[in-house]
Amino acid sequence: MTKKRVFSGMRPTGRLHLGHLIGALDNWVGMQEEYDCIYGIVDWHALTSEYQDTRAVQDNVIEIAIDWIAAGLDPEKSVLMIQSLVPEHAELHLLLSMVVPVPWLERVPTYKEQVMQLREKDLSNYGFLGYPVLQAADIMIYKGEVVPVGEDQVSHLELVREIARRFNHFFGRVFPEPQAKLTTTPRLPGTDGRKMSKSYGNVIQLSEDPGKIHRKVMTMVTDPARVRRTDPGDPEVCPVFDHHKVFTPPEGQAWAAQGCRTAKIGCIDCKRRLLEGMLPVVEPLHQKRVELEKDRESVKEILVEGSRRVRGRARETLGEVRQAMNINYDRRSQW
Ligand code: SF4
Repeated sequence: MTKKRVFSGMRPTGRLHLGHLIGALDNWVGMQEEYDCIYGIVDWHALTSEYQDTRAVQDNVIEIAIDWIAAGLDPEKSVLMIQSLVPEHAELHLLLSMVVPVPWLERVPTYKEQVMQLREKDLSNYGFLGYPVLQAADIMIYKGEVVPVGEDQVSHLELVREIARRFNHFFGRVFPEPQAKLTTTPRLPGTDGRKMSKSYGNVIQLSEDPGKIHRKVMTMVTDPARVRRTDPGDPEVCPVFDHHKVFTPPEGQAWAAQGCRTAKIGCIDCKRRLLEGMLPVVEPLHQKRVELEKDRESVKEILVEGSRRVRGRARETLGEVRQAMNINYDRRSQW
């Protein structure tokens, strides 16, 4: 039985953090046996917002690949590749841009939101508006059938499906409509209680050593109403407890919740218990990372080889697209 094809990607805009591990990477690792997975480091996507200073992109590509492999993505099972090493993504993006109405892109909820939020960047560029079309091309160039998404990304995938439908409507059925594989993405706030994000400076990076992670957890904000040790707290408003929900077994969570509400435990005890669950997850990852760091050339080779392996598939799809759009000049007899 052939495995269904999966494509997913990450932008090399910075180091990965715990939110990436729990929200995406763990799911990706779990899909490797059942699916034919292609995981791309989508460097052109990074340029859509980082075009004014691109110096960090190449280094971020390697750091992300190291994080991926350390977290359990296996280049023997999944293809790990770099988007710009397969230029067919760009040609398909161009061809899809002929059929995608601009209002579809302007309506994408995250488009306006990001333009407003990232005011320090000028996101009035054409590439940023066209981001979802490039995302569609990334999936469609491999005829991706399944895309792992969190609930907040379902609308993005629906747009990819609409783009595939519109193309097929004009030119005949070339593309499958990719299905969403809904993944659970538990809330994992940053050390200050806001969304974990590089721009807030509140992340726990996968590349940080366990000592640093320990210090960050010990200084995490807690329920602001719990001023003194004797004040009862509310775990449901505490970011530390959100982390317990991910890293601590149920009996530990019950201990923390009850101890917090009755003021039987202090926040220091609570954080120590959290570290008992968190450190066994991050320590092996960190050790593997240190090993991979010693041989960055091999990591680069994995990405180059992965990109080479999938380029044949991308060329095949593009051949079909050119044929369907009547711009296939490969065989002279056909024009
Ligand atoms: S005891 Fe734990 S859950 Fe309660 S406020 Fe302190 S850190 Fe948060």
